[in-house]
Amino acid sequence: MELEIITTSSEETIQLGEKLAKVLPNGLTILLTGDLGAGKTTLVRGIAKGLNIQGVVQSPTFNIMKLYIKGNRPLIHIDAYRLADIDTDIGLDEYIGYETGLTVIEWPIYIPKLIPDFKIEVEITNLGDSKRRLLFKGDETLLKEVK
Ligand code: ADP
Ligand code: MG
Repeated sequence: MELEIITTSSEETIQLGEKLAKVLPNGLTILLTGDLGAGKTTLVRGIAKGLNIQGVVQSPTFNIMKLYIKGNRPLIHIDAYRLADIDTDIGLDEYIGYETGLTVIEWPIYIPKLIPDFKIEVEITNLGDSKRRLLFKGDETLLKEVK
């Protein structure tokens, strides 16, 4: 199933992330696709907020992976951008799909072998100014909660 949501400010995208944190089940992986500046990390900020994770969620581009364990449930945030040209196993599979939390992956295209079955995808498109299109793709049972 596909579900399209348009946001017109980063605050709205954060609110959408908060909602995702409330309705999406443990163990799910959320793939975020879209260009640089589309709003992937902004959505993750909202998810973190919805999980009551304190502190700033930054793009983990320089860390590749950040694990937040002090919220309502664990959040694993992966940004695979810098793994584009690397074919080394750095053990990320240990973190993906953690059964009591949510995993979010930016640039999943760079770690195709690590993408689990239990997932949804959110394709974010910059429509200009502060308008963004978020196209959700996944099982109807999961996405009907997002509406
Ligand atoms: P990405 O992680 O996809 O590279 P970021 O979330 O880091 O993108 O950056 C998105 C930028 O776009 C931020 O500066 C954010 O404030 C801005 N922005 C403007 N409008 C929106 C919106 N509707 N949703 C998300 N971000 C928005
Ligand atoms: Mg980012």
